[in-house]
Amino acid sequence: MLAPALAMKGKSVNTKNVLTLLFVITVASAATLFATDKDKKEAPKEDARPSYEQPQPDRETLDFAMYGKIREEATTHSHVMEYATALMDGIGPRLTGSENLKKANEWTKEQFTAMGCSNAHLEDWGDFGMGWKQLNTWVRMTAPDTAVFIAQAAPWSPATKGAVSGSAVWVDIKSEKDFEKYRGKLAGRIVLFGDMREVKPVDKPLFTRDEETDLKRIQDYPIRLNQNENSFQAFLKSLEFREKAGKFLASEGALAVLTPSRDGRNGGGSGGTIFDDTGAGFGWLIYEKDHANPLPVAVTAIENYGRVYRLLNARVPVTIELNIDTQFTGDHEHGFDTVAEIPGADAKLRDEVVMVGGHLDSWASAEGATDNGAGTVVAMEVMRILNALHVKPRRTIRVGLWTGEEQGEFGSYNYVKQHFGFVPRSNAPDQMNVTEFDRDPAGPIELKPDYQKISAYFNLDNGSGKVRGVYLQGNGAAGPIFAQWIEPLRDVGVATLTIRDTGGTDHEAFDAIGIPGFQFIQDPLDYGSRTHHSNMDTYERLQPEDLAQAAMVEAIFVYNAAMRDQMLPRKPFPHPDLERDLSKPLKGVMPGAEAKQ
Ligand SMILES: [Zn+2]
Repeated sequence: MLAPALAMKGKSVNTKNVLTLLFVITVASAATLFATDKDKKEAPKEDARPSYEQPQPDRETLDFAMYGKIREEATTHSHVMEYATALMDGIGPRLTGSENLKKANEWTKEQFTAMGCSNAHLEDWGDFGMGWKQLNTWVRMTAPDTAVFIAQAAPWSPATKGAVSGSAVWVDIKSEKDFEKYRGKLAGRIVLFGDMREVKPVDKPLFTRDEETDLKRIQDYPIRLNQNENSFQAFLKSLEFREKAGKFLASEGALAVLTPSRDGRNGGGSGGTIFDDTGAGFGWLIYEKDHANPLPVAVTAIENYGRVYRLLNARVPVTIELNIDTQFTGDHEHGFDTVAEIPGADAKLRDEVVMVGGHLDSWASAEGATDNGAGTVVAMEVMRILNALHVKPRRTIRVGLWTGEEQGEFGSYNYVKQHFGFVPRSNAPDQMNVTEFDRDPAGPIELKPDYQKISAYFNLDNGSGKVRGVYLQGNGAAGPIFAQWIEPLRDVGVATLTIRDTGGTDHEAFDAIGIPGFQFIQDPLDYGSRTHHSNMDTYERLQPEDLAQAAMVEAIFVYNAAMRDQMLPRKPFPHPDLERDLSKPLKGVMPGAEAKQ
């Protein structure tokens, strides 16, 4: 409680004069005691605390007539697939920094205005890096046989100088020590980089819905102690190595690189599907000029990669011809979020906001229909439904369509940083190889005045599947509220609340500084198996009924949050800067232990 009060004044504890600090703490404590004392005797409207800190009602006052109207508008007049074909077919892939994404920013802004929103605009979140687009990619084997490959350029791959041909070589490079084996042997060659993996039969469905047992498992809370994020660190380490390996291959004069597509859930990374994202290139920050892919690289279908791999292993010379045609469109392209509003109508509450959104950017090997065209068109449909019903929300409803999500949730983190608050980040030299928001905290959260004016943010970014419930993200106080909100939505499949966290989507930007940020539980469909970051993430993967249901549920959540007396309750204020100390082993616990030398 004290940290937000201090930080609200725009000062950091580190730099504060100790006397002033003591004074502020004393005043803040006194104010807290006074408020608590007052609660017992007087009406809550005297309470000066933001409403998310005040007592919440046991019973939610719900507008069931509005539930009915939203359900009706979302189903009988659904326009979600019109937005979908316009975005996916009309605009296409939306890699951050690309011309297509800027077009999508402009188009969403225009659509928000056309549907009746106010204040539709783009917010510049800063310098992202290089603009890039794939014009064409083809790869084929020309000896010992001819074969046409399924392949696409890795994002931000440079172009080859037209069609190039070379003898193929598979390199077994797992660490820098392995470079020596290949020195002087790679000039003019097409390098196969990456192990051949086992390709198992696809004997389980690629497309699934959550059964009761799956939802029960999500609902159960596993107690796990002192968890560290080792997997992300390991991923970053592997990409750091790939950056070095790419530089080595380029310095040896290799013509181009082929990498095998990774697998998807239930063997989905086969049969024509290739996954084409950060893992395909040579580093984490390849969109920055200083870390650019040093040579052309394409991802190939695992079956095509396998044939070449087996021939080379059998000492049969293989010749590959390929043409990777890509274009860079600037070194310092900026990222933009699309933002629009339905203004609040209650004089006392209109300065407070409820936010809804998803990310507008995608990868480039298909149209990003499920990641995250789905979340985008659902958020648009939510705003359209509420406009069509001429709702007069008490709080302002604001939509945010983020960009740069696929490279580190840049659009949402920067939006939160510019509007609500941020965690200062370390600039130590050993931290500069990762993106800003992955660096170690360098002090307590610094807050902006609007931190006290946002109730919650609702996000959709787990594919095209309908909503089955909500990840409470550790916010237990929101549970009893949402339980009442979803009771009338059981018949459309929404019945699960879990205290669990979920990660990897833009709600994290809000959650990171203590603003309630929620990602819905969605039916998995073929998101993990086939569509997420793949060449098959197309309009065909979108399920119209699921998207219409998601828009209905999200519109009801947003409306309820905008209408209730209080903002939604929050978790305890986070202290990311103290995490490391708090999880250190205690000292002096073991009786009789000798002091360390
Ligand atoms: Zn996504």
